[in-house]
Parts: sequence; structure tokens; C-alpha cells
Amino acid sequence: MISANRNIRRLLRYRNSLCKMQELGFETVYSYNLGRETGVSPEQVRKDFSQFGIKGNKKGGYNINELLITIREIFRKDELQKVIVVGVGNIGNAILQYKGFQKNMIEIVASFDIDPTKYKKKKLPVPVYSLDKLPKFVVEHKINTAIMTVPERVAQDVADLLIEAGIKGIMNFAPTVLKVPPHIHIVNICIGHELESLIYHSLQMGNNGRGKGS
Ligand code: ATP
Repeated sequence: MISANRNIRRLLRYRNSLCKMQELGFETVYSYNLGRETGVSPEQVRKDFSQFGIKGNKKGGYNINELLITIREIFRKDELQKVIVVGVGNIGNAILQYKGFQKNMIEIVASFDIDPTKYKKKKLPVPVYSLDKLPKFVVEHKINTAIMTVPERVAQDVADLLIEAGIKGIMNFAPTVLKVPPHIHIVNICIGHELESLIYHSLQMGNNGRGKGS
């Protein structure tokens, strides 16, 4: 079991680079190549791989195909991972329309909203069910993960409902800190806060040589 979230994120970065290298016809990669591509030190790359029992060859290179197979096993990419979306507003809608999850064996199978008529209104690729259908759906379809794109004022109640239904991981787009039991994993994505933080850092960098009057 991998516990540190950062290790997981690094593995995903390695996977992206390895896929590109494989597409270009490379068979072997060295820790310094992969490190350079992913912004990680070669020592860290070797440490991460040895942690998962991945060994390099005598010259220190790694077989790209074997690396990808091992990473796929770590992320259980042999099984389709089913995910639900709760809240079909602008963000939920955009996520439902996004097709990029499929290549990584993730499928959004259904969505839930207080207003299930959104299905017809927005011509969505998956059904929109009312919330009372959620507990049964989660159990029947063995869903562990949910994307929550509801307004801030209802986020905690919706999270409680999801956890009660058996959800173990929530990607939360509401700008609020959810109170959840320790065994529940939360990823908070607050686009507004990220943008504010980026603007703050951009302002700290000065005006990039532009004169005051320009
Ligand atoms: P977004 O914030 O995604 O841009 P929006 O501004 O269109 O969306 P919001 O008011 O943020 O709309 O609501 C997001 C969605 O959450 C809407 O589709 C709304 O019907 C739904 N929603 C609101 N309350 C609940 C709830 N308690 N449970 C499930 N869905 C809800």
C-alpha cells in the first residue's frame, strides 16, 4: 500500500513521460533522463522505483515497458475504475463531457443532482439521478470514488451522504474544508483559490519590465 500522496503523483508524472518515450520508440530509460523530464532528481527516481521493487539493469537503465506494466499494476489499471459526479452545474458538466479519463481506465458512470432534469437540458453522456438513488447505486456498482461539484453551502451534507453510502475518496471542488473520518481521502480542488494564489505570485514577480505607464 502506497501511503504518501506525493509518491503517487510522482509515479503519475513518470507514467506520462514513459508513455511519450515509448511512443517515440525508446525501450530503455535512465533515472537522469526520467528525472529531467519530470523535474525530479535521479536519486529520487531510483528511490521511488526501488520502493516498488523495480530494479534497473546492470548499466542502470530501466526497461520502459516493464516500468509501465508495474505502474499500471500499482494503479490497478487492469480494472475499470468507476466514478460518479455529484452536482451537475458548470464544473460538473465540464467534467462529465471530458473524455480524457478513459485512456487511464477511469469511467464516469453516473451523476447525481437535486435537479435530475439536467440530463435532458444539457444532453449529458451519463444519466443524472436524484440523490435518493445514490446509496443503492454506490453499493450496486461498487463505487469508491466521487467527484463533488456542488455549492459550498451543501458540500458537507453531500460529503456525509457519500461517506454514509460507502464512498472512500472524494474530489471536492467546493471551497470548504470537509470534516470527514480519517479513513476517507479528500482531494480539494478550489480553482478560485488557485487562481488567486497564482495572481498573488505573479504580482510578487513585478511587472516584468513593463513601465508603469504601459
Ligand atoms: P458550478 O459551481 O459547477 O459552476 P453552477 O454555478 O452552475 O455550478 P451551483 O449553484 O454551484 O451551480 O450548483 C452546482 C450544481 O449542484 C447544480 O447543478 C445544482 O443543481 C447542484 N446542487 C445544488 N445543491 C445540491 C445538493 N444538495 N445535492 C446535489 N446537487 C446539488
